[in-house]
Amino acid sequence: RWFAGGQTNLCHNAVDRHLATRGDQNALIFVSTETNIEKAYSFKELHAEVQRMAAILKDLGVKKGDRVLIYMPMIAEACFAMLACVRIGAIHSVVFGGFASHALASRIEDATPTLIISADAGMRGGKVVPYKHLLDEAIRLSSHKPANVLMVNRGLADLHPVEGRDQDYATLRQANMDTVVPCEWVDSTHPSYILYTSGTTGKPKGVQRDTAGYAVALAASMKHIYMGNPGETYFSTSDIGWVVGHSYIIYGPLIGGMATIMYEGLPIRPDAGIWWQLVEKYKVSVMFSAPTAARVLKKQDPSYLTKYDLSSLKALFLAGEPLDVPTATWIGGALNKPIIDNYWQTETGWPIMAICNGVEQAPTKFGSPGKAVYGFDVQLIDETTGEEITEANKKGVIAVNGPLPPGCLQTVWGDDKRYVSTYWSSIHNKVMYSTFDWGVKDEDGYFFILGRTDDVINVAGHRLGTREIEESISSHSNVAEVAVVGVADQLKGQVAVAFAVLKDPSVASTEADAQKLEAVIMKVVDDQLGAVARPARIRFVTVLPKTRSGKLLRRAIQAVCEGRDAGDLTTMEDPAALQQIKDSVTH
Ligand code: ATP
Ligand code: MG
Repeated sequence: RWFAGGQTNLCHNAVDRHLATRGDQNALIFVSTETNIEKAYSFKELHAEVQRMAAILKDLGVKKGDRVLIYMPMIAEACFAMLACVRIGAIHSVVFGGFASHALASRIEDATPTLIISADAGMRGGKVVPYKHLLDEAIRLSSHKPANVLMVNRGLADLHPVEGRDQDYATLRQANMDTVVPCEWVDSTHPSYILYTSGTTGKPKGVQRDTAGYAVALAASMKHIYMGNPGETYFSTSDIGWVVGHSYIIYGPLIGGMATIMYEGLPIRPDAGIWWQLVEKYKVSVMFSAPTAARVLKKQDPSYLTKYDLSSLKALFLAGEPLDVPTATWIGGALNKPIIDNYWQTETGWPIMAICNGVEQAPTKFGSPGKAVYGFDVQLIDETTGEEITEANKKGVIAVNGPLPPGCLQTVWGDDKRYVSTYWSSIHNKVMYSTFDWGVKDEDGYFFILGRTDDVINVAGHRLGTREIEESISSHSNVAEVAVVGVADQLKGQVAVAFAVLKDPSVASTEADAQKLEAVIMKVVDDQLGAVARPARIRFVTVLPKTRSGKLLRRAIQAVCEGRDAGDLTTMEDPAALQQIKDSVTH
């Protein structure tokens, strides 16, 4: 518990607190290259919209402590909805708009919301993605039924309103134009929201966040890590369905008195210059994206990155997955800006590892997300002995000695037992928070993330991180992306198997050519890491299975390779990708 006994409100800190000093400054800049709508809201306008939304929630019977599920595309109303919830002390549970009925139903069941807020449709790559039938089906599948559904009608798809349950946002907003809804003061420890992890390693966990600790952590990170100042513009390319969207599209920038860009669209549409065009137009000073997006841009014409005036931009922050050195070097060079990796989890709400240039200037080392952020007592633990590893460059489990600093999860929603048994299960009698990631620390205190603890490959007694082998393979000039998994082997215990996406697939279009390239890449690994790390097979595919948040689903690939059931796949992006793996394995 942080700041126990205090009272506060997240919406007050994000919006109302700025009205006197920066009421007319931009707060929310909504840009959709899908619908060609661009609209900026000042803090005053945002304040008015949030109060209208809050009034609607209250009219629909939402009370302090009630859950409100938000299943929406990246539109301004989603931001109003999140802020309106915390304004009245309701707990939001944002579900990524790209999820289908099944994933949505389990989250409805888990959060038991009084109200669901949704929209008729999202858009992706110029195509309408209708939401309503998925939502109706999810409610049908769930044993819990919300009393009301509030629908934002964008005029993109059919609404099929359900009599007595579905409410029209535009109509209710019109009736509340001048409503005043004061902030409801809540205890510091009052839950602000529930958010599910990406489901990369198993069934997603419902992270429960507090109020005051979170606000303090975000305000601090804005100064000390991201170096964003009030009055500047922050642009995070994530989605509100993920933790980066919660912390650094909505709450962090607004608490810091910054304008925030909410972008609906692809990074390469209308062309690969769109993000940089926005940087120029809105004088973005801090940008936050994911390595997976950087890799998408890497496949495009690099001249788009230099076409616009980027002088306002101080740095590009990347997080969510290991940032490989070739990608970091490439984008850093193309933009001529510092690239800053930072490592964290849905659970922590803000970075565990980063370079805190706002505290003390430190150089970046590519391949490393930096040092432990103040507040996190990070230790590397030897899995076999449970002892802390103090020696440099020795691999161990990344753990945090409690208590966790402000901003981190309070518990797993509705399941304290799962919280304790999942995260605080002792590593050889040492009760610590486990990140379930594996890493090393160098002489200077910089960490390197080697992969998930589940992904450690044990080849004839040698323990290897998937990351090391992937990094080595991706140093070959024709490899765009690669996933390495450990596969059970009678002789060696486990062997590494790689699945690579090529920049130019024609090089491996025949069986003989593929074998030739496989041998060349194996030689690369031999030379860099030694024969022990050499994958038993390198197979070429056109796409890799990922979660909707862009993370490699190694556990599913591994299961397929070992002929096992692939487990919970509700958060998977493209089922065809896993099918390709299946085909290539049985081939
Ligand atoms: P689940 O917990 O449901 O299996 P998940 O761990 O992928 O899913 P997230 O909270 O979205 O869910 O992701 C956090 C994980 O992402 C970290 O534990 C780590 O494995 C990885 N990660 C995040 N940032 C970095 C980074 N900068 N470098 C390397 N890995 C990172
Ligand atoms: Mg996780």
